[in-house]
Amino acid sequence: MADVSYRDFWIEVLKALESQIKRSDFLTWFQHAGVIERNNGNLVVAFPTVLSRDWVANKYRASVLEAAQACDDSIQEVQYEVDGKLGQPDDTRGVDVNTISVPVKKVRKVRNKEEYTVNSDGVRSKALNPRYTLENYVIGPENRLAHAAAVAVGNRPGTAYNPLFIYGGVGLGKTHLLQAIGNAILKNHSNSVVAYMTSEKFMNEIVEAIRSQKAKSFKEKYRNVDCLIIDDIQFLAHKERTQEEFFHTFNDLYDGNKQIIISSDRPPKDLRDIEDRLVSRFEMGMIVDVQFPDYETRLAILHTKCREHQVMLPPEVLEFIAYNVHHSVRELEGVLMQAIAQYELEQSTPTVRSVAQILKKLNRDGEFAILDDGQEHRSLAKTPDDVISIVADYFKLTKSDLVGAVRKKEILVPRQICMYLIRRELDASFEQIGEAFERNHTTVMHSVEKIIKMMRKDQKMMRDLNALKQEMGL
Ligand code: ADP
Ligand code: MG
Repeated sequence: MADVSYRDFWIEVLKALESQIKRSDFLTWFQHAGVIERNNGNLVVAFPTVLSRDWVANKYRASVLEAAQACDDSIQEVQYEVDGKLGQPDDTRGVDVNTISVPVKKVRKVRNKEEYTVNSDGVRSKALNPRYTLENYVIGPENRLAHAAAVAVGNRPGTAYNPLFIYGGVGLGKTHLLQAIGNAILKNHSNSVVAYMTSEKFMNEIVEAIRSQKAKSFKEKYRNVDCLIIDDIQFLAHKERTQEEFFHTFNDLYDGNKQIIISSDRPPKDLRDIEDRLVSRFEMGMIVDVQFPDYETRLAILHTKCREHQVMLPPEVLEFIAYNVHHSVRELEGVLMQAIAQYELEQSTPTVRSVAQILKKLNRDGEFAILDDGQEHRSLAKTPDDVISIVADYFKLTKSDLVGAVRKKEILVPRQICMYLIRRELDASFEQIGEAFERNHTTVMHSVEKIIKMMRKDQKMMRDLNALKQEMGL
């Protein structure tokens, strides 16, 4: 069957592409794509979802063409289509890209993982999650100092800053940083013993040791570590006996130049019902805080998390999430994970509209203040004409300005925004949009691409787009 040779050919093209594209992106975007036609210099490649088709067509168009031409120099053009049957059990056309060779140099990742799980002598790397590293902690103005201190302690435990005290609100990355330092110490000093625990676990162990009269072995256990990390120290409030025990452990470790790292929801001086002598110990070293990150950092965090989960969501969806989450990074991640779950379960691309629904649901408990902002519900924009009216109102232009021919910047950019919104939010084809604006579809494509580019660089553009999406009832 002709399909078989298409398939072999596509595998050749994929091999040529593989080295050009980051592995995770390659696996995400080319999975189950296949060639469905090839004649007269024309190659038709189909993808199982609209998202993957659009993504590859937008981002990798040149690379795909180049790779195809490298395999067959008579190819002039590559066309992109969607075929939902690709990758189904009985489909023979879509190629499982996991079978396309992995360059040797990228194998290292796996080895890293093992470095963390060796040597389980009870304390050493127990409870440290290898997922939390200093490398995947995104730095912004709000956590730069905390991150720098963490790196220093990771390199020179016991000497750089001791103790290191990190404080900040819920879900802002304290546990991530603490565990990342522990992981860094294990990586840089492979013989060291690192103990991480929450203050509650610490307390439970003390209570248990006292109950079973093994207080002595408890003391020895923790005084033998090279680095003791206690998360959420504020929960030791009112726990006098535990505080007492901790005080002695702290002194022993400190005197032995062992690293102590502590996190809390507030600075030492504001800790309630914790002995003064402990508080003053906490103040001896370095105190740093983490705050809620700004828009750019939030967006960078979302990109990082997407990469970790090996998915890519449309840029405007990530921007929408970054723009509308105002409390914690945990929430930011939560919304993202729901969007990813939706993408994976329903095989449908999250849109600003579907993410807005997720945010609205979370809004139930009053934690989110977004989207409606107490204003009345607006009706949903359904047609290109609705969008044109909204954009015209927003920029104080007329509808005929927008669909007209004038190319002044004040009109041109809103016109392009209009096309972008109709494309993204109403899923109209480039041809349909072209008709509404009496332009050909390549002009529309360029306009949409231009807005996407501007959006990445220009905060005002982002704000305008978000405002307009709200106007559209999204
Ligand atoms: P806290 O301990 O302060 O309550 P966590 O450390 O548990 O917060 O962070 C919540 C989530 O947010 C974690 O999944 C963490 O990886 C993520 N996170 C927070 N800040 C960052 C950051 N700057 N870069 C990457 N991920 C972050
Ligand atoms: Mg925490």
